Amino acid sequence: MTAKIIDGKAFAAQLRARVAEEVAQLRSAHGVQPGLAVVLVGEDPASQVYVRSKGKATVEVGMKSVEHRLPADTSQVALLELIGELNADPSIHGILVQLPLPAHLDETLVINAIDPDKDVDGFHIFNAGRLATGQKAMVPCTPLGCLMLLREELGTLAGLEAVVIGRSNIVGKPMAQLLLRDSCTVTVAHSRTRDLPSVVRRGDIVVAAVGRPQMVKGDWLKPGATVIDVGINRVDRPDAGTRLVGDVEFDSAVKVARAITPVPGGVGPMTIACLLANTLTACCRIHGLPEPE
Ligand code: NDP
Repeated sequence: MTAKIIDGKAFAAQLRARVAEEVAQLRSAHGVQPGLAVVLVGEDPASQVYVRSKGKATVEVGMKSVEHRLPADTSQVALLELIGELNADPSIHGILVQLPLPAHLDETLVINAIDPDKDVDGFHIFNAGRLATGQKAMVPCTPLGCLMLLREELGTLAGLEAVVIGRSNIVGKPMAQLLLRDSCTVTVAHSRTRDLPSVVRRGDIVVAAVGRPQMVKGDWLKPGATVIDVGINRVDRPDAGTRLVGDVEFDSAVKVARAITPVPGGVGPMTIACLLANTLTACCRIHGLPEPE
């Protein structure tokens, strides 16, 4: 058996096209253009790449894109002031502060200063609480993208055993909440989990969000499992240079799973597409307009 390779790139392109259509509709019917502001503090090269691609994708779907690039020594007060201005700006519906922030800035404080209704990353404590209590929330983009791929692949998820490996606030925990909301039986594994392979073997669904290259082996999986690999790890090639790999050992997993996301080209492209979808949702909510499906 060889697993189906889930084409996250193609699914993300379809989602972006749907968002673009909705944006065009909003602009023509209501004169409203969704706006996303991205704030980058410092010069982390990976963050610069992410911010650039977010800005480009935002413009491509017809939204307003604003970038604030601040020096690495920006004070907490100055950053909070900028967030206050963006919170008050009616042309901005989504605010994203690119993480990680330089060490002298308090990430939690900064994230919680964002208006929760404009918190398109879904990291604000109100949104985490709303998601956990089944209220309308802004949902973190990466787990939202994983959920969309799973629904597309499996239809209803109700009753399935789901194993999430990783319990971070940005991926593992919200992923577990989303799967629970879809009536899966959810297990969350982490670095202190005993006998991880046997825990993983319970999963009809396995979501790996660990940050350890190719840690999850094919023989850990239940035959026929659907595997979502969130990991993005850069490793050395045997010859020269580097390549990206996930948290799952693809070559062994593909022989056991029913379907699996590749790295790259799986979850990664969904994250930005979901950011655009969240910005559109935020805009509709702020203007009291019907939300897209
Ligand atoms: P974190 O480092 O915040 O969390 C990693 C989690 O994995 C922790 O809960 C940790 O457990 C757990 N863990 C670490 N080692 C083990 C182990 N040996 N066995 C079991 N569990 C373990 O990472 P993130 O959640 O931020 O990201 C996870 C991965 O996803 C990374 O590779 C990251 O690059 C990628 N990522 C990809 C995105 C995308 O768009 N595709 C977006 C965001 C992240 P404990 O809590 O006990 O320490």
